[in-house]
Amino acid sequence: MKIAVLPGDGIGTEIVAEAVKVLQALDLKIEMETALVGGAAYEAHGHPLPEATLKLAKQADAILFGAVGDWKYDKLERALRPEQAILGLRKNLGLFANLRPAICYEQLVDASSLKPELIAGLDILIIRELTGDVYFGQPRGRRIATDGLFPGAEEAFDTMRYSRPEIERIAHVAFQAARKRSKRVTSVDKANVLETFQLWKDVVTEVGQQYPDVELDHMYVDNAAMQLVRAPKKFDVVVTGNLFGDILSDEAAMLTGSIGMLPSASLNASNQGLYEPSHGSAPDIAGKGIANPLATILSAAMMLRFSLNQAAAAQRIEAAVKTVLAQGLRTADIFSPGSTRVSTVEMGAAVLRAL
Ligand code: NAD
Repeated sequence: MKIAVLPGDGIGTEIVAEAVKVLQALDLKIEMETALVGGAAYEAHGHPLPEATLKLAKQADAILFGAVGDWKYDKLERALRPEQAILGLRKNLGLFANLRPAICYEQLVDASSLKPELIAGLDILIIRELTGDVYFGQPRGRRIATDGLFPGAEEAFDTMRYSRPEIERIAHVAFQAARKRSKRVTSVDKANVLETFQLWKDVVTEVGQQYPDVELDHMYVDNAAMQLVRAPKKFDVVVTGNLFGDILSDEAAMLTGSIGMLPSASLNASNQGLYEPSHGSAPDIAGKGIANPLATILSAAMMLRFSLNQAAAAQRIEAAVKTVLAQGLRTADIFSPGSTRVSTVEMGAAVLRAL
């Protein structure tokens, strides 16, 4: 098993170091190689995704990614900004499925802005299609309108677009993930208004027939946005397109209230994947040793489950995280009175002990 380790910028290096220690402690035959990415790679090589880093990522079974970005790069031309490294990796590796679990740990129930009874025990998985939809559809651009309400006025337009195979492959990811969970999929669309999402609904329904053991329902995106805050526990696996998924996955992340706890995975057709915390590089706390490494450690667990076929090891890590929370250990972002405040390194060490 070969893992490319790309810590990146800001807190990326601090949190990835803890996840690497956890992986090393597992007694698995894992080979890890580290490379620069994002702003760190730009400083050293003039590009956020240097050729050598991309090569390493392509050859690996999985990528453990920290975070990239810093406000100091905001003035750089778009192609050289740190965030371009993620887009480049997604494109070059064909990472089309983004998996974001939102789990509410019993001990952190008060971190949510929702009532405890709504989110206690929450465990849902949002699956977002990552390479299609209105973000990539052509044509797009600006022009002078020749028709519509205001002919002669400047207008902008984008193209919402999905092909049948694109929908089929993300639907399979959702049904297969549901089989490892509570066997329920909610497909989120806007089929009442958008032709793209009528096709989406038709194709997901067809693919669903190959999974008779998984229950499928459909929901319009506006309703899904409401239901996610009204009764989030009614969901199990939610699958949707790039645009709706962008919004709903952030909404679902905030249900738990703890951005430092949320892992994510981006997979391609051969289950090669990029695993990273859902949060960014947090330049405001970088270098202070206070970042929460648990989202990254839980991302490593997802990597073991989805790309490396080591479900038992993944479970061991997840159980260890629950143990340290039960021991009352908290980094600053999840601290509450009565618990014990620990640093990034101390949290990593506690997970190792629990393992
Ligand atoms: P952010 O997620 O980095 O930080 C938001 C807030 O959450 C900050 O107050 C931060 O201190 C806190 N936070 C985040 N992760 C934490 C952790 N593990 N432990 C404790 N606190 C944590 O988002 P932002 O501030 O909007 O963006 C900062 C930079 O990160 C930007 O340059 C942005 O482009 C980049 N970014 C990168 C990624 C990525 O690498 N995938 C994702 C989002 C943002």
